[in-house]
Amino acid sequence: MIEVRGLRKSFGDTPVLRDVDFTATAGTATVLLGPSGSGKTTVLRSLNVLETPDAGLVRVGPTALEFPLTGDKAARRQAVAELRARSGMVFQSHNLFPHRTVLGNLVEGPVQVQKRDPDEAAAAARVLLEQVGLAGREDAYPSQLSGGQQQRVGIARALALQPEVLLLDEPTSALDPELVGEVLGVIRDLAREGWTLLIVTHEVRFARDVADQVLFLDGGVVAERGGAEVLTDPREERTRRFLQRVL
Ligand code: ADP
Repeated sequence: MIEVRGLRKSFGDTPVLRDVDFTATAGTATVLLGPSGSGKTTVLRSLNVLETPDAGLVRVGPTALEFPLTGDKAARRQAVAELRARSGMVFQSHNLFPHRTVLGNLVEGPVQVQKRDPDEAAAAARVLLEQVGLAGREDAYPSQLSGGQQQRVGIARALALQPEVLLLDEPTSALDPELVGEVLGVIRDLAREGWTLLIVTHEVRFARDVADQVLFLDGGVVAERGGAEVLTDPREERTRRFLQRVL
């Protein structure tokens, strides 16, 4: 479902991704972890071209882009739009529209961008709200919800666009500790339902629970990869040191 090959990215003279390769099978959860600054967020953002890689290949489902992009501007824009439509992104903080209700936040993209029927989009949104444990809150405004509830709306909003994969960038790191569990619970449910997930997180215990694949990034490369055993019995000394620090 996801393929990343030879991904490189520098900011100015500083290489951030040196050569990142991995694949993720449909229906699996991949956890990206590693020290701050190791390039995790840049990998995630490259997958929907919020960052433009300098080199490498990114594929989601049947849509592959090779960087640097070639073709004229219209063709490049079209290719990027096609790739973006295949993934949903959940950020550290939810970025909900403050002046729209919960339901309004969920139907905005499907109706405005995807031109879907408003009634169909609203019905689909209600199903998603139930899935994230917020049935009955569709008329609330974001400010009336707790941070954990807001983040669950953020997840539902990403799903409302019917992506094939969900990219989650430290989805709980902006939350008060007592609210982390409810958001991780929703993500765990999505993993069980067979969503294809790529998650940047520092929650190692949660990662152990959900990860089919673990990628440990260090210095812009995948320094270790494997199943959840990477988190309990790493082969690499740098992975071991990192886990000792965060656990
Ligand atoms: P991580 O998610 O592992 O903490 P990031 O991918 O966020 O790492 O960042 C990797 C490095 O790239 C960091 O040193 C960061 O400061 C730098 N970086 C990220 N985004 C930008 C940007 N837009 N401009 C300049 N440097 C950036």
